[in-house]
Amino acid sequence: MRYSMIALGLAGSLWMGCSSSPAPNAASATPAAKTETAYAPGSKKKGDKGHCVVCVIKEGSSEEEPVVETLDYKGKTYVFCNEKEKAEFISEPVKYAGP
Ligand SMILES: [Zn+2]
Repeated sequence: MRYSMIALGLAGSLWMGCSSSPAPNAASATPAAKTETAYAPGSKKKGDKGHCVVCVIKEGSSEEEPVVETLDYKGKTYVFCNEKEKAEFISEPVKYAGP
């Protein structure tokens, strides 16, 4: 239990350090962990924190943001940091959620 928290912390700090240091141990063979943007149905609601799928795809953001809008799509719940991005998702769901 304690171990998984340590692992999470390490992953977080490694990721943060990537842009500023050469990080010789950050093996090029290991791709950055994919940010989870599809949540279990009903697990996110307005006011929660989550990964806005539009920000993750468009801006490469990996920060959790306050959830302003949610949408159930193909059995998953997606969250958005504003209404405009929800509309964007709806207009191009394949781009954000995959085929
Ligand atoms: Zn967003």
